[in-house]
Parts: sequence; C-alpha cells; structure tokens
Amino acid sequence: MTQVPVFDGHNDLLLRLWKAPGRREEIFLTGEGVWHLDLPRMRAGGFAGGMFAIYVPSPHVGDAGGFMAMMNNPPYDIPLPAMIGQPEAAAVALGQAGLFSWMERASDGAFRGCRSVAQIRAAMAAGAVAGVLHMEGAEAIGADLDALHVFHAAGLRSLGPVWSRPTIFGHGVPFRFPGDPDTGPGLTAAGKALARECAALRMVFDMSHLNAAGFRDTMALSDRPLVATHSNAWAVTPSTRNLTDWQLDAIAETDGIVGLNFATVFLRPDGRESPDMGWEPVVRHLDHLIARLGEDRVGFGSDFDGATVPKGIGDVTGLPALIGALRAHGYDAPLIAKLAHGNWLAALERIWGG
Ligand code: ZN
Repeated sequence: MTQVPVFDGHNDLLLRLWKAPGRREEIFLTGEGVWHLDLPRMRAGGFAGGMFAIYVPSPHVGDAGGFMAMMNNPPYDIPLPAMIGQPEAAAVALGQAGLFSWMERASDGAFRGCRSVAQIRAAMAAGAVAGVLHMEGAEAIGADLDALHVFHAAGLRSLGPVWSRPTIFGHGVPFRFPGDPDTGPGLTAAGKALARECAALRMVFDMSHLNAAGFRDTMALSDRPLVATHSNAWAVTPSTRNLTDWQLDAIAETDGIVGLNFATVFLRPDGRESPDMGWEPVVRHLDHLIARLGEDRVGFGSDFDGATVPKGIGDVTGLPALIGALRAHGYDAPLIAKLAHGNWLAALERIWGG
C-alpha cells in the first residue's frame, strides 16, 4: 500500500536545534535517531510537512524530567513560569527563525519554507518537506506589534499569543489534570490588538494553550476560522490543554480546524505521561473530534520533539502505523487522506487565501 503523506499542525524541532549549536547538521541532516524528527526519518515516515514552532524556553526552570515526572502522577497542577521580557525573547526567536532558513539552505531544497498553500502543494509534489513557520507564545513581539511585521516578512504565517506562560497579550492554561480550560482572565488590550493584526495579515491565530476566556475574546473579535493546532477532546481526557465541547462547536461554526496532539498526557483518559498505551484512546479522541467538528475540520498536531508520544508511534517513522490503526478502526481512504493532510491544506487555504 502506498504511503499516505502527512501535513502536521505542530512540532518543536526548531527548539531542539537551537539548544544544540554546532550539532545541527548531525541532528537534522544526518539524523541521530533520538527524539522524533530529522530529515531522513521524516522521509521514511511520509512526513510531507507541517508547522514548525518558534518557542522561547523559560530560563531557570528545572529540567524537563522533573516536569514529566509530575505529569506522570495525576492529579497534578504545575505552576507556570514567570513572563519573559521582549528583548530576551526576540533574540531567541530570531535565532530559531534563522534556523528555519538554515534548514532550507542546508538541505539543498529537501526542506522548503512555505508561505502559501500553493507552495506547500508544490513542495509535496516535488517530494520536499513543506515547512510553515509558526510562533508558540508571542513574547518576542512588543505591545507596539512592530516585530510581528518583521517575522511575517521572514515567513511567519501562524502565531499563538501564548504558550501556557502568561504574556503581555493574555493567559494560557496551566498544566492541570483533571482541570477545565476556564482558568483565568482573557486577552489583554494588547492581545486583542494582536489578534486583529494577525487577522489583517490573514495569519493563523492559534488557540492551543489559550484559556477559555481568551478563546471567547478571540471568537468575539472576528468570524474568521478558529484554529487549535495541537489540542484534543476534553470529553475524553479532562486536561486544561484540551478543548471542551462548546469550544469544538465554536471551531466547527467558523469552519476552523483542530490538530490531534500525540502527547500521551493529552491522549490518555488517566492523564498520565507514560507512552505505554494502545491505539484505543487515539481513535476515541478522533471519533469525538469528528463527531463535533465533522470530517473536514480535524487533522494532526503531533507535538513531535515537544512531548512523549505513544509507543505505537514512537517517532515520525510511526506515522504509517498510526494510519494503519485508523484503517483498522474502520476509517476509509478518503477520510484518512483528509485527516493526514487534506483538511490542513483546505483550512490554511480558507485562512490565508489562495
Ligand atoms: Zn504546545
């Protein structure tokens, strides 16, 4: 059976590369076989492209191991790190935007930065990986929004106002299980201005990590398609990071899209971080998302290189196994093609224009 190409809503490869200066060729081009993504494994897994996130990590926060140990022992309620200043964040974001361009040049066109759906389709047709530049948390942009235009000119086509940590634009959800996304105040005046400016630029304004009040504020600002690049169904896994049914209904009403997050903490009904799980929770989330959103508004949002994923996926080369599980669950070929890439491309066309 021929491989189904996957266009994915979220990954953290840029952060991984940024953390390893001097080792980028080995990590991206050669591939070390650790974590989830590199060029050889993307090709092997049928990873046709996706959104590549710029993300500024909090300094002086304990190692990810401690964080993950807490998430493996629900219930948990992990305090969020403090805000990060714009100059500090902008330097990191600039570096990661530069790495995105480096990936294109260093791969001799095997990886292509894309700014339109036509460019994504052309890259996919040529067998190149189609990357779209995303920003997860807008700390690198000041209240004047001037830097937004620099990043847009550099190819940024998708932005989330917050990772979970607070910004001058709004408040994200703390990582809490069990918990509801209604966790605090909504968008600030600067956040509303940012949402309007992103709408004027026809960028994706990503609701993943935003709390319920911020979600409602964004809904009230425009009737553009609402997008959550990497979030799951709260009805299956009651994590603050997942979407409740009223949020899914609002996304359906605006003809938006949700990308299924492969992070075990958002897939497993018990909220644990352990990768030791089967396909059943994965298809339960997809069934629920499809029931609320319809077959045309659900895609993938892997969180590769940013989260622990089920052992059946393992890394990007596990995408064909995931597709096989969906087939075994009874999804037909047209639906699988929509989930794997068709719905993301159609949604981006609705948001960006032709
Ligand atoms: Zn995220």
